[in-house]
Amino acid sequence: MPEERISIAGEPRLTRMVRDAAARGALGHAIILSGQGDLPAAAKFVAAAFQCEGKDPPCGVCGPCRKVLREIHPDVITVSDPDHKNISVEVLRRTAADAYILPNEGRRKVYLFPDCRLLDPKAQNVLLKVVEEGPPHAAFLFCAENSAVLLPTIRSRAVEWKLSPAESEAGVDSGARRLCELLCGGKAADIAAFCIDLENSKPEREALRSMLSDARDLVTAALAVCYGAGGDAFARRLAAEMGPKRLSACADILQTFTLQCQYNIGVGHMAGALAVALAG
Ligand SMILES: [Zn+2]
Repeated sequence: MPEERISIAGEPRLTRMVRDAAARGALGHAIILSGQGDLPAAAKFVAAAFQCEGKDPPCGVCGPCRKVLREIHPDVITVSDPDHKNISVEVLRRTAADAYILPNEGRRKVYLFPDCRLLDPKAQNVLLKVVEEGPPHAAFLFCAENSAVLLPTIRSRAVEWKLSPAESEAGVDSGARRLCELLCGGKAADIAAFCIDLENSKPEREALRSMLSDARDLVTAALAVCYGAGGDAFARRLAAEMGPKRLSACADILQTFTLQCQYNIGVGHMAGALAVALAG
């Protein structure tokens, strides 16, 4: 009898990724859930995947899954500090020490941070060692709409899973945003794949120009953040992850190609050249 399987609401892709990783026993020991959406609910789903003893984890029906979903599993610990605005260093020291104690009944001990804005850099440094080289039974789930609130040292030891925003930002071409995300990731192969897709989609010259120009504006806004201007979450993230030098180089490249779109240059040729320039 088919049962309605639990999932992360509105996130079929992420649901599949978590299940795949869980089935392979490959859920990382530190996971950042970022982006827009119900991050704590997604974290609960991942926590269930860690503890599940059923088939195709998280099954949602085994004892451990039910306990996680009802928030009564003794080895899924939500780290909070009701006495302070931010989570205090003392609470995190206790958390770090507790992580070395074996689970009560679960497979893993899972520590959930529902809002990483409550972890200041000093607090994060307390966690760094246990995240880096803690016992194999410990797992950490960080919820952060913008993962840049976490120190690079924590981010580099975690995998980041993004919830996709329901809508692309108003007025900004979603391709432009995607391109900036890839520039931010810095993987030449991903940037090349994006440009190949772009070429294959045979965009109108004006559509391509507008996408490149939007991307240039996003990069320029991030560059301004580097120099002290305010900016939205996306600009701040690009600023934190790319730094002024790379942002400035990307802004130049995007500007050059935006201008070239106005001339009579083959759009296909441009996508290839863009890949080479941006991946460099
Ligand atoms: Zn289960």
